[in-house]
Amino acid sequence: MKAAVYHGPGDIRIESVADPGEPHGGEMIIEVARGAICGTDSSEWAHGPLLARPPVVLGHEFVGRVVAVGAGADGFSIGDRVVSGAGISCGVCEWCRAGRTNLCAEYRTLGLHIDGGLAEYVRSPGFVCRRVPDQVSDDAAALAQPLAVALHAVRRSGLEAGQACAVIGVGGIGAFIVAAAIARGASPLIALDVDDTRLETARRLGAPISVNVRERSLSEAILEHTEGAGAHVVIEASGAPGSPGAALAAARRGGRVLIVGLQSEPREIDLFSFTVREVDLLTTLAHVCDVDLPDALTLLASTDLADAVIDRVIPLADLVDDGIRPLAAGTARGKIVVAPS
Ligand SMILES: [Zn+2]
Ligand SMILES: [Zn+2]
Repeated sequence: MKAAVYHGPGDIRIESVADPGEPHGGEMIIEVARGAICGTDSSEWAHGPLLARPPVVLGHEFVGRVVAVGAGADGFSIGDRVVSGAGISCGVCEWCRAGRTNLCAEYRTLGLHIDGGLAEYVRSPGFVCRRVPDQVSDDAAALAQPLAVALHAVRRSGLEAGQACAVIGVGGIGAFIVAAAIARGASPLIALDVDDTRLETARRLGAPISVNVRERSLSEAILEHTEGAGAHVVIEASGAPGSPGAALAAARRGGRVLIVGLQSEPREIDLFSFTVREVDLLTTLAHVCDVDLPDALTLLASTDLADAVIDRVIPLADLVDDGIRPLAAGTARGKIVVAPS
């Protein structure tokens, strides 16, 4: 079969590799209909290996049809259309038993540690897969995993309906966070970015307030739209160096700051200001299949968020030039979806 194999920095090859073969216990073989690529993939290409263990078939966001069901992959049949979660958890460690499978001590990610879904076929355990409702197209279903990450983030933030929520950085995962926060009833939702195209996407997703902060203070922009009190929840999804500090300054007394964006270096933060306003600092990682994937499919079925977020659909052969490269350069307008065959 054809697959996108990551060999190292600047080296992704579309090549012929062996088919996945028979499913082992609990696994399924899925014929991939659509995959999607994200910042993780382009970062591995641009300056990896970070998390990836090359050579490995990329792809942790995909949808397809089940073509083989291993013993113990209960509840699935050949022909089922399914999405897969990205991470495989062990099920027995302290964190798995507490339902926090994203923190599993043995967590392995498809497309980074083991072969993923940017290929014609992929092997995935049934317990991380969910059946796709008929009204969700393949293109839209390819977004279920990143949307699940955003839903997990917003759940972690404790955002309640009617609370002011600011999202800093609305490209990539930030766009999905805008959609997830609006679905949870954020009011108002303030989208902040330095790129007008990404802000336009946020507006299409329903953000009533969008601010370009290229030439103005992030925290002032948030305070201005919250009558000077700050947002109940500030979600930092840009990874920009100054954003965590700005997020803190723009959080309401007793509010919460959620860090989503990965910082490349340690940052200084004014903990005095945190403490005297009793602001909670929270973090988030990946998603929990059992909770977040079904919620993502429900949201995709009930909104047209996929239309707002998808930039283009490309063939696997064009993955690097039309997908990875523009994503790494920051010139992709939105999500890039890949058709493997
Ligand atoms: Zn991803
Ligand atoms: Zn575990």
